[in-house]
Amino acid sequence: MRTPLIVANWKMNKSIRDTETFVQDLLPLLSGVTEVEVAVCPSFVSLPALRGALSGSGIRVGAQNLFWEMKGAYTGEISPLMLVDAGCSYVILGHSERRQIMGENDAIINRKVRAALDAGITPILCVGETLQERENHMAREVVKEQLSRDLKDVSFAPGGMVIAYEPVWAIGTGVNASSDDAQEMTGFIRSCLARLYRREQAESIRILYGGSVKPENIAEFMAEEDIDGALVGGASLQADSFAGIVRFK
Ligand code: PEP
Repeated sequence: MRTPLIVANWKMNKSIRDTETFVQDLLPLLSGVTEVEVAVCPSFVSLPALRGALSGSGIRVGAQNLFWEMKGAYTGEISPLMLVDAGCSYVILGHSERRQIMGENDAIINRKVRAALDAGITPILCVGETLQERENHMAREVVKEQLSRDLKDVSFAPGGMVIAYEPVWAIGTGVNASSDDAQEMTGFIRSCLARLYRREQAESIRILYGGSVKPENIAEFMAEEDIDGALVGGASLQADSFAGIVRFK
């Protein structure tokens, strides 16, 4: 039985004040929600404010990146241990914006995944194809390669890993994948995980869908067998739309 997980990815949005206001608005909207795990990933500078505002709520705090070394002369970077210190349970890794804009490749992502796990933080590993790759019928191949490279030498840890299937063409575009297509790809991802690990281990890993998720479409995704939650960008910025997604039932 996989507990549904809904994760907010705020990207480079919200001040510290905005973060506190968001939490004040969100908490009453989520009262009584017990069957869904919720995590919010703000900018690094808002982590302490978010942690304080969420204290005692059960909502988890996550980060949007880390560096693979634990400490040292790496100007401008944030280490996994610093994220642990800041109360992070999760870290988003391999997001297409970091792959495309910051030039992160699978070797870098693999180092980050391993560093997160070494520090006890659960990576939310994002994989997904571009529109051109989908149109060229390469979606499966691309995602399979990302998984095998990003998870190279990563041993299975119970509850230790989340995968987010995020077709690049659906991120921030308002054009979501159909639930059928998302299920086809998340089912395929689970079969890849069953080859990298064991079938029962693959069955325990949560796989999220991400790409223009909204309160209006979350239920169709959550009805699919291999979709265990959502990674939400734009619609996570307002407390009411994020709460509408968390309350998908
Ligand atoms: C994302 O950035 O991970 C994402 C899914 O964004 P959006 O929900 O805005 O498409």
